[in-house]
Amino acid sequence: MGNHAVVNQPPPLLEYNVFAADRPLREAVRREGAEWAEDRIAAVGAFAGSGHGQELGRLANENPPKLKTHDRYGNRVDEVEFHPAWHELMAVAVANELHCSPWKDPRPGAHVARAAAFMCMSQAEAGIGCPISMTYSVVPALRTQPELAAEWEPRFFSSVYDVRNQPAPGKDGALAGMGMTEKQGGSDVRANSTVARPVNGGGPGAEYELTGHKWFMSAPQCDAFLVLAQADGGLSCFLFPRWTPDGERNRFRLQRLKDKLGNRSNASSEIEFDAASAWLVGEEGAGVRTIIEMVNHTRLDCTLGGATGMRAGVAQAIHHASHRSAFGTTLVEQPLMRNVLADLAIESEAATISALRLARAYDESLAGDEEATHLKRVANAVLKYWITKRAPMHAGESLECLGGVGYVEETGMPRLFRESPLNSIWEGSGNVQCLDVLRAMVKDPASLEAYYAEGAAAEPRLEAFVAALREELPGEVETIEVRARRVVEHMALALQASLLVRYGDEAVADAFCASRLSGEWGQAFGTLPAGVDFGRIIERHAPVA
Ligand SMILES: Cc1cc2nc3c(=O)[nH]c(=O)nc-3n(C[C@H](O)[C@H](O)[C@H](O)COP(=O)(O)OP(=O)(O)OC[C@H]3O[C@@H](n4cnc5c(N)ncnc54)[C@H](O)[C@@H]3O)c2cc1C
Repeated sequence: MGNHAVVNQPPPLLEYNVFAADRPLREAVRREGAEWAEDRIAAVGAFAGSGHGQELGRLANENPPKLKTHDRYGNRVDEVEFHPAWHELMAVAVANELHCSPWKDPRPGAHVARAAAFMCMSQAEAGIGCPISMTYSVVPALRTQPELAAEWEPRFFSSVYDVRNQPAPGKDGALAGMGMTEKQGGSDVRANSTVARPVNGGGPGAEYELTGHKWFMSAPQCDAFLVLAQADGGLSCFLFPRWTPDGERNRFRLQRLKDKLGNRSNASSEIEFDAASAWLVGEEGAGVRTIIEMVNHTRLDCTLGGATGMRAGVAQAIHHASHRSAFGTTLVEQPLMRNVLADLAIESEAATISALRLARAYDESLAGDEEATHLKRVANAVLKYWITKRAPMHAGESLECLGGVGYVEETGMPRLFRESPLNSIWEGSGNVQCLDVLRAMVKDPASLEAYYAEGAAAEPRLEAFVAALREELPGEVETIEVRARRVVEHMALALQASLLVRYGDEAVADAFCASRLSGEWGQAFGTLPAGVDFGRIIERHAPVA
């Protein structure tokens, strides 16, 4: 019994398929060669949008992992305890092989299929993306050392999520992590001070002992990690397993878990190695070259993560505005709100289709397409920079579309907001990505031409924009580093515009070109010019199948 009726509140956005309801994503999956995987992606999408999937995400986020350093007898155990919701989410992700499918079952479109399913799954909870992404990404780096790959790949390719903390050979499945960042340097990994001493002469595939620390090592519950350490021959990449081959706990200590802004369901640890056993992957001194194969794939997932957050925000914003009235009409009919919603939707669509195009470049590159390899080299850094950089602003504006309740935890919007800066920071922060674009242009000049080829389309505003970009790049060589963010932003906009013009919705492409390329735009979302077809854009992005 109450003293008032609850009215003018939207129904919960639950029991909907986040894939089926995402037109730009569905179109991109077909266009980029993964139509064959639609049923599987849709199954993940149904789970992620279900009441149960959403509830698991809420529980995993609200019950962060706890570090357990010792057992009751005082023995070190160095374990992390998770809420059952985390485990259930992980089990779904692993059962759907989001951690391995393109390697286990390589075929055209495999990376695109996995990318789309990863985007769907992350809408239940983004935190699980970390160990899933690292396991997916470890494979190409580990293949540098074929005998280690042969031993570990069958474990990583299992679709069984096995949480047992025991030696990997007795488990039904295994997961991988990565340790590069140390206290004195994360971007500049050459500053790593962890030392690797050969046990028996050393060399590729041989055993070493690691002594030192890592300042950030996420998902420390994983079974094995690629870590960087200084060997006599320089910075090198090692496979560090949680247990030694003779069945002993490896010699490491989990010191702390980080108390993070967001991504709270995922454990990020500080760790110390105390003569821990590890095996050299590749040559001594080739650490960065080896582990970069892993980083190139986690970076793709950061870009996908940025696009995912935008899609989730747009879905919530349009849903709320469609069911909430103010001043006599629903919010979605108010002209200024239509401008905000359409602007958010355009940003989201540009992010989704460019991220999926990038995923296709991974497929093509593996199939031996040189043009795609060049494109991937530069587009990876350009899109990681721009899409993840736009995410926090986008999440903040989506949140505001819900009004005051958007600031309240129950809506999930604060969780989305807190998660949003992360993909820009890890796996190389914004400036590092921009500097990487400059490096790519110098080391692989063909990458820039491949980029221009993909960033072209018969659209006068885009042609003028690209002509200006060609003048900017490299422009004055002495100032290129200081101009790098601006240049990379323009590269991202050109690529997104080209894809939208060629493959996207006409109204979205037109509004994108008018605002992002021709300057008919302000500095906040909701500043599109008056002629835009707002209704069509909003309808296209409404979270209904
Ligand atoms: C939640 C979370 C989980 C993480 N998990 C892991 C993990 O599992 N494994 C792991 O190895 N690391 C992990 N990291 C670490 C992350 O990758 C690093 O924090 C990141 O690479 C930046 O390194 P740093 O913190 O040392 O910052 P710094 O390298 O000190 O950089 C600080 C700032 O300076 C900028 N900068 C650096 N160099 C330049 C330059 N030359 N010119 C201009 N600007 C520059 C950077 O862009 C950044 O904005 C995690 C981080 C977070 C937040």
